[in-house]
Amino acid sequence: MTTLATAAKPRVMSGMRPTGDLHLGHLVGVLTQWAAYCDSADAFFEIADLHAYTTDFEDPAKIRAARNEMVAVWLAAGVDPAKATIFLQSGVPEIAELHVLLSMITPVSWLERVPTYKGQIEALGQEIATYGFLGYPLLQLCDIAIVRGQYVPVGRDQVAHLEFGREVIRRFNYLYGGGSEILVEPQPTLTEFAEVPGTDGRKMSKSYGNTISIADDEDATTKKVRSMITDPQKLRRGDPGRPEVCPVFSMWKFVNPLKLDGIAAECRSGALGCVADKTDFAEQLNAYLRPMRERYRTYTSDPAQVERIIEEGTRRARTIAATVLADVKEAMHLA
Ligand code: SF4
Repeated sequence: MTTLATAAKPRVMSGMRPTGDLHLGHLVGVLTQWAAYCDSADAFFEIADLHAYTTDFEDPAKIRAARNEMVAVWLAAGVDPAKATIFLQSGVPEIAELHVLLSMITPVSWLERVPTYKGQIEALGQEIATYGFLGYPLLQLCDIAIVRGQYVPVGRDQVAHLEFGREVIRRFNYLYGGGSEILVEPQPTLTEFAEVPGTDGRKMSKSYGNTISIADDEDATTKKVRSMITDPQKLRRGDPGRPEVCPVFSMWKFVNPLKLDGIAAECRSGALGCVADKTDFAEQLNAYLRPMRERYRTYTSDPAQVERIIEEGTRRARTIAATVLADVKEAMHLA
């Protein structure tokens, strides 16, 4: 496992499918790290619209509509387009071409073995029997390889997924490289993605309908916080509570960790009631999100600016992609 500290301005590559609802979970889990990569790395962030088609191919208008809104959230969260390259996957057709070429040397059994393949089917609750869905880990590899991504932030459970891609690249370089590294083997940079609980205590996720979104207004946020479950054994103020089982308490960790000790003590003693705690928390959460929501509104009210950022980033990614693809084709005697 490699850490970023070993390299000067390493190229980090990550991406996100355009979905209609970026929430606190994305913000705390991923986007704050992306914002940090803008300074510590040569960061590439991909709008993975083709990946969205692997599961939502019947709803292309939704994918298109979600694209700019998602990027507006990225920008609002601190991803700096002057330092990072924000690009559109379908705007770099070299990715699709590389995918075809690498598919020639990728055994189907390797794809079927990728642990997240079965996990995705379980999470979606349906079998998706398309060729594209089976091949999505290879497409992900092409997203990284086409810009010579050196590092990919992954959680512990995704290391095996990336290892599949590394094996494909090793195979490619062995078959066509003649001893040289035509394609770069990406390294995982192990990342702890903080898991934010949703309003019902399960992991915050659009599919559970338990999110607090960047796009929500403050009243909606306050209502959602008021509806949050807490320790089921604490029925009224005075009852001793268990902060360790309470999702409101877990969220305090992200919004104002300095208050944790005091809240935990008062919850346990019964001095603090859940209504009062949630009222305080809703205010602090809105204050925490306010500057970001203001930036989000600025970007959504100026779609041309967001389009421009995506176009510029896509142009930059394509310049690199064209070089990588040319090297690949030459090595495969296709040039
Ligand atoms: S007082 Fe706060 S931390 Fe304790 S159970 Fe209620 S909401 Fe949760």
